[in-house]
Amino acid sequence: MYAVTHFSVGLMLGQAVGNPYVACASGLISHIVLDSIPHSDYGKTAQGVLDFAAVLTVACIAIRQGAGLSGLLGGFTGILPDLEVAIAHLRMTKEKGMHKHRLRFPSHSGLIRHGRLRVPWGVATQIATVFVVWAVLRDAWL
Ligand SMILES: [Zn+2]
Repeated sequence: MYAVTHFSVGLMLGQAVGNPYVACASGLISHIVLDSIPHSDYGKTAQGVLDFAAVLTVACIAIRQGAGLSGLLGGFTGILPDLEVAIAHLRMTKEKGMHKHRLRFPSHSGLIRHGRLRVPWGVATQIATVFVVWAVLRDAWL
């Protein structure tokens, strides 16, 4: 899933649990669950830069709205596993696709199923996922 989706869900989970340690665990676990939902991904560096800018935008809005440490830790640990994907992509680009880099996170390595769906449905599932998590958890941080 897009980093902004992982971040938004991790942020809401972390904010709901209110404990930094549990927030980190929930961010990582949510990454696996979200990756199993059929979704679209992207493969261009420019799209990754836009996605990261969207993460920073959501983080700034969340901070202005009073998000605490647990929420932010949940969000950042939610996107942390995709760092290996970004590094592998940049290394492949630099090495002109000579090597396929091995990914280790369970939902990236093939150990746990990684759902795939074409645009626009793969984007719609991400929007729906964020909305469902928001609808379920919104009372937890009000
Ligand atoms: Zn991932």
